[in-house]
Amino acid sequence: MFANPIATALLAWYGQAYRRLPWRLPPGSTATPDAYRVWLSEIMLQQTNVAAVVPYFEAFTARWPTVESLAAADDADVMAAWAGLGYYARARNMLASARIVAAGGGAFPDTGSALRALPGIGDYTAAAIAAIAFRHSAVVVDGNVERVVARLFAVEAPLPGSKSDLRKLAATITPAERAGDFAQAMMDLGAGVCRPKLPLCASCPLAGHCQAQSAGTAGELPRRAPRAGRPVRYANAYFLHDSAQFLLVRRPPKGLLGGMLALPMSAFSDDGDAKTIFPSTPVLVSWSKLTGEIRHIFTHFELRLSVYSAFIPAHSRPPGVWADKDRKGLIGLPALFHKAAAAAMGSLPIE
Ligand code: SF4
Repeated sequence: MFANPIATALLAWYGQAYRRLPWRLPPGSTATPDAYRVWLSEIMLQQTNVAAVVPYFEAFTARWPTVESLAAADDADVMAAWAGLGYYARARNMLASARIVAAGGGAFPDTGSALRALPGIGDYTAAAIAAIAFRHSAVVVDGNVERVVARLFAVEAPLPGSKSDLRKLAATITPAERAGDFAQAMMDLGAGVCRPKLPLCASCPLAGHCQAQSAGTAGELPRRAPRAGRPVRYANAYFLHDSAQFLLVRRPPKGLLGGMLALPMSAFSDDGDAKTIFPSTPVLVSWSKLTGEIRHIFTHFELRLSVYSAFIPAHSRPPGVWADKDRKGLIGLPALFHKAAAAAMGSLPIE
């Protein structure tokens, strides 16, 4: 079928084994892909696994079925719908991109370079959209594909230094036709068969072409250069509550968790001595520190968050967004503040 036997074998396998996902067309479909759905799925899949993305994708496309409807949405509604998916800069970039595309008539650009000009779209996402939504022959390389290629060609050089070689090798097996199916087949093979720790070589359609499998090194590749550890940073979060509600603030639009509803927080500190900067309240409140700390991993650092709780009479509470002190009040909070507020609620005396 194709000049390269790896693409032939992989696409034959994909025809049977493909993952049924709500943004995908079946293999070999001649229907026109919906670029909005492909783009939305690729933004959500950045740094998030498929199982976590599916319910968010379904909720977003039910509520905002077109790029125009998403572009017209209220920022706060979109950020609240995104809550829990993490990496909130993606949601802000997604909205900005939707508004650019809608203002230009609603058609997504179809080339890698034009796609990269949209906020939040890097090389990988641009290639994936070009291949899947527009069926262009783009070389789509994510972590899964790097792993498969490193094994197929027994690349011993460690990541990240070997990235450009892996990309060149991926280009040698990417077919000119059905590039979208090929990209998705590589993703599926990497996720379900050529797994990071225990590759299932016995059931792999590429086993006959795989140099690492022959050499017995499949489970060791790709090698990785040792990484410097993540720095640890510290901060305090404040749970100010009356008998029924607790205080939330909206974070500034730019920066960490930008635009999201949050508990009031101190500044970050690098030395474990987060300064208390909770804004003054109309009456003196007495803060008590919860036992333990909440650990949360961000891309560039690990946060250790101490949580302080204080009661304030309802008639003295400062202005702000006051949420109900129950499960409903936690909806729309990023995971970090969800954990912190739930911990504080768990520590409250039953009233
Ligand atoms: Fe991965 Fe094994 Fe298949 Fe090679 S044979 S591509 S190592 S699953």
